[in-house]
Amino acid sequence: MDYRVNEIFTSLQGEGFHSGTAAIFIRFSGCNLRCPFCDTDFSAFTTMSLEDILSFVEREPVRFVVLTGGEPSLQADDALVDGLHRAGKWVAMETNGTHALPNGIDWITLSPKNDHVSGAELRLKECDELKIVYTGETFSTFPDISATHRFLQPCDTGNRARNEALVREAAAWCLKHPEWRLSLQIHKIIGIR
Ligand code: SF4
Repeated sequence: MDYRVNEIFTSLQGEGFHSGTAAIFIRFSGCNLRCPFCDTDFSAFTTMSLEDILSFVEREPVRFVVLTGGEPSLQADDALVDGLHRAGKWVAMETNGTHALPNGIDWITLSPKNDHVSGAELRLKECDELKIVYTGETFSTFPDISATHRFLQPCDTGNRARNEALVREAAAWCLKHPEWRLSLQIHKIIGIR
């Protein structure tokens, strides 16, 4: 099978539990949702075979691979995850939780979008980290989702003053709900990809 890959690159994970960790990002093209704040241009793509992807990741000394998008579960399959494992990689996926995942994912980051867009009903009920995007509106905390770690991440609105207000509000909320941690998009803060 071929995969529609928007971009593949190595950088530091900017968000959530593995923030600051070197990772190979495989960004798949396409998403089944249309969130109003989506900041990812996932429409363009290059067609890559499994061998093309493995050829890239095998050249990188980094072990941590993040399957992201768009919505990676629309394309990533067991063959890809198996191939990455055979290459000695550890495979994480960032998903909106609306679609079944391939087998063998080592780390699941679930970022539900139910509060923001219709058609985002969750199929996933368990994850390693739950990441909620804070837009300044009342938000669901998904108590029925089994998650080892819970993060609240202020939305990047593109407006500096608004972003700063959202960070302050999210930080204040985490202080009152200490089972939640603040996630900042550090790749944007330090100006890397
Ligand atoms: S689920 Fe993620 S990638 Fe898809 S539209 Fe929403 S924010 Fe963008």
